[in-house]
This record gives sequence, C-alpha cells and structure tokens, in this order.
Amino acid sequence: MNNGFHSFEEFITHYRSTLRKLFREPQNHKVVSLNRGVPPMLMRDVIQCRPLNVFISRDHGGYGGDVSQCLSMLEASSYESLPLSLMMGINGALFIQPVTRYANESVASGILPRFANEQAMGGLMITEPGYGSDALHMQTSYKVHGDGYQLEGTKHWAGLTGWADYWLLTARQKKKDGSLARDIDFFIHDSRNPGVEVEEYFDNLGLYMLPYGRNRINTHIPESFRLQPPSTGIKLMLDMLHRSRLQFPGMAMGFLHRIADDTLAHVTSRNVGGKSLFHYDQVKERIVRIQSWFTSCAAMCRYTSEKAPISRDLSMEDVPANAIKSVVTDMMQDAAQSFLQLVGAKGYRLDHMAGRGIIDSRPFQIFEGSNDILYQQITESVIKKMKKSGFTSLYAYLKDYELTSKASEYLRSLTDFSVDQTLSQRKQVIMGKMLGYAITMNMVIQLGERGFQKNLVQNTLDVLSADIQKMLSAMNVTAATEPAESIGSDGDWFAFV
Ligand SMILES: Cc1cc2nc3c(=O)[nH]c(=O)nc-3n(C[C@H](O)[C@H](O)[C@H](O)COP(=O)(O)OP(=O)(O)OC[C@H]3O[C@@H](n4cnc5c(N)ncnc54)[C@H](O)[C@@H]3O)c2cc1C
Repeated sequence: MNNGFHSFEEFITHYRSTLRKLFREPQNHKVVSLNRGVPPMLMRDVIQCRPLNVFISRDHGGYGGDVSQCLSMLEASSYESLPLSLMMGINGALFIQPVTRYANESVASGILPRFANEQAMGGLMITEPGYGSDALHMQTSYKVHGDGYQLEGTKHWAGLTGWADYWLLTARQKKKDGSLARDIDFFIHDSRNPGVEVEEYFDNLGLYMLPYGRNRINTHIPESFRLQPPSTGIKLMLDMLHRSRLQFPGMAMGFLHRIADDTLAHVTSRNVGGKSLFHYDQVKERIVRIQSWFTSCAAMCRYTSEKAPISRDLSMEDVPANAIKSVVTDMMQDAAQSFLQLVGAKGYRLDHMAGRGIIDSRPFQIFEGSNDILYQQITESVIKKMKKSGFTSLYAYLKDYELTSKASEYLRSLTDFSVDQTLSQRKQVIMGKMLGYAITMNMVIQLGERGFQKNLVQNTLDVLSADIQKMLSAMNVTAATEPAESIGSDGDWFAFV
C-alpha cells in the first residue's frame, strides 16, 4: 500500500516516532531553529513517510482523504514543528483538496499520484502587493489565448515560494474593454513550465522552514488546467477557504498539546522561592488557560472531523469556519505568550519552543483572513440571521442556533439583551469574538458528552464563560474614540516636567 504501511494507524505511529527522532536530535533542532529552509536529509526522512497521502483519495494512491486522518497528521506534525505542519496544511488544504474537488479528472489523475508517489508539493497564490484582505479586487488577469489562457500579474507571500511543483493561481478575466470581471478563476500551474518567476525572497520573521517572496506571473495555462467551479469562482474560493479554516485546529492541536506538556514539565521542575512554580496561584491560572485552549482545540477537531468531509460543499459555512480559525489562532498565540512568561528568560532563546512559538504562530492570526475581519464577519452574519428569523434577544437566538444551543444555558443571564443592529465596527469585532467563544463552548460541551476528560471540560467551560463575560462588558464600555491625526509638540512629556 502506501510506502509499505498497511493502514493509516501504522503510518501515523511511524510518522510520530520519526518526527520525534528527527526534530529532537540536537543538531537538527539547532539547524531548524536558527536557519532558513529545511536540511535536505531531514526533509527526505519526513517525506519518505508520505504524510500528504492522508489528503489523497485511494484512486490516486492515498489513504482516502478522511478529514480526521488529515487533522491527525497535522497534529503529529505540529507537536514537533509548527512550520512543518503549516507546510503539510498548505499542500493539503490549499492545493490537493481543491484539485480533488474541482480539477478536470484527467488532469487530477496526472497530478495527485505525483504527490502520493513522487513527493510533489503544491501551494496557492491569491495575495498581491496591493490586495491582501481585499483579495476580490486582485489585479492578476487572464485572457483566452490559443488553446488556453494567458495569465499576468504579481503575487506575494505564497507559502513554498520557489519550491512548489504546482501552484493554484488566481486571476480575473480581462474583458474586451480592458476592465476586469468580478469573478475569480483558479488555474493549475506546473512549475516545469515557465512563467512563475521569483523576483525576491523575503526574510520572513518566523516560520523559517518555509520560503516566501514575490512572484511575477506571465504564463500560459492549458484550458483543462482551469478549475471547474460549480457556479461561480467566488463560491469555489469560499468552499476552499472555509475548508482550510475548519482544518486549522489540526495544525493548532499538536502545537497546543506540546505547549501544555512542556509548560507542565517546566513548572513542576522549576523551583522559585523555595517551592515549585506549580504551587503559585497565578501560574496555575496560566496553566488552566493553556489546557483550556488545548481542550477547545480538541473539540474543534471533533467538529471538523464530522462536519467537513471532502464530499461536502462548505461555501455557506462561514460562521463555524471563521469562528474556528480566528478563535483557535488567538488561542495559539495566547498559549505561546503564557509559555514564554512561565519559562522566563530561557524561553527567549531563538532555539527554545516558547519564543519560537510566539513568532511562528503570530501570522496564523493574519493569513487566510485577518482575525479582526473574521470576527466582524461573524457578527454581521449572525445579526443578518437574527433579523431574518425575527429574533431580537441574543439569548433566544443562541438557544435556537445549532452551533450555540447547548452553550446558551451557560450564557443565559449574560446574553438576555436585545442586540443593537447598528454596532460600530470595533464592537462588532468584540461581539464576533464573543460569539466565536460561545460556538467553541458548544463544541466543548459536545466533546464532554462523548466522554472527554471531565476536569479539562469543566475548567474550559469556566474559562470560556468568564472570558465571554469580560467581552460583553468590554462591548458595553468601549467608547467611540477617534485617534489623534498626529502627535504634536504638546505631546512631548518632557515639556511638562
Ligand atoms: C506567513 C504568511 C503566510 C502567508 N501565506 C499565503 C499563501 O500561502 N498564499 C497567499 O495567497 N497569501 C498568503 N499570505 C498572505 C496573507 O493571506 C495576507 O497577508 C492577508 O490576507 C492580509 O493581507 P495584507 O497582508 O495585504 O494586509 P492588509 O489587507 O493590508 O490588512 C492589514 C490589516 O489591516 C486591517 N484591516 C484590513 N482590512 C480591514 C477592514 N476591512 N476592517 C478592519 N481592519 C482591516 C487588519 O488588521 C489587517 O490584518 C501569507 C501571509 C503571511 C504573513
């Protein structure tokens, strides 16, 4: 079967132990912490396990693409290395899964077996220097040309820049009058062909394993290499991005588990003031929060495993996808901050998991939808649904909504108010985060009902409801302040001494 493994279970056991050996070997650990790129021998040993086969259907030589197996592989990767897990996530969610769902079958059968058998890599180019969050206005364009399409434009920040064997390129059609169509189309570029040229490599702050940069696109794509959207390309893009966002908990899971394990090991062995750190109340508070983020993420993994099979169109799943992505990435950053706080100075070394974790997890809050924007979109979407179904009380809506019905009882006294339909953007962001936490709470309750470790579930529900309470009061007291347009000479404290 797959590289000698008879089953997924055999693969994942071997993969975990291989990564453990590779990433904890002192020389490798130093090299991957301090240098850019991946040592070729380490990459060879990782790739020989054929981790990407979890994303690939049986027809094309993989394990079948079961989403819980995909999450499990991402989790095993991020327990040892978050950048490695992102590398796998990019290949899976941003290339293999969209190609599986939308490519011409004969094209897919020429490409996907190369991922299964020849260790090919693929990524996605959406972002442009002038258009990031505003990607729908991208300027990369295409025209019908000969037996295909001619694409032209500039893309930057695509993970695996200069490395991927295949790219999904996005562009808008150039109309006869020179203007660009509203819809976005997706094209598969084979890097054996010219036309995607790296103009500059970036010195990215973290995620050293992954190359980023700016690419000039001027390439011809055969007609059959354009993805076939079910209706519009924007719908395809929503399905792809929601699927990817729903799988973020896979990458977060191992990362949070490792932080929980290593923090506990540190605080129980480090003595300060004659007792171990574990005995200080504030330390316990931080550990409980880290464990709560671990538990929340586990609950999200269960949700995604059941609700996001590769066969399902996820283009309408904006609320759970945006909530899961933004909440879990905020939790990753918060856990890394607490880990470094508790480890102290030792954690500030570039080769320590704590400091690295802060830097490596930070962009997860920015890419695939900036969290500020996703939180706002959650609120907009919920307010729209409330209006449509005639609810004014937030509690009544949460009780009726399948993503929050179980959590609503915990939040009854906090949420029994009518929602102002004209909230400022900053309040929409706070409310979106609050709703994201309520959705997470619901998932945690469901995980608890399945028998997940009771004390973790109870602590998590307590932490989430206390945070929701803080967010609701922040929403009430947030003032509509306007920033100063500049800081003048009367803003110099020294003049007032
Ligand atoms: C490590 C990393 C990996 C990446 N990987 C990829 C990849 O593989 N493929 C790819 O195509 N792209 C990738 N990106 C690009 C990423 O998707 C974009 O950076 C992201 O979409 C934001 O775009 P921008 O950087 O242009 O920021 P901008 O769009 O300029 O936004 C910057 C900030 O402004 C604020 N903001 C923007 N719009 C609003 C608004 N409407 N309301 C309120 N606030 C707003 C938000 O705080 C936002 O974070 C990656 C980026 C990074 C850092």
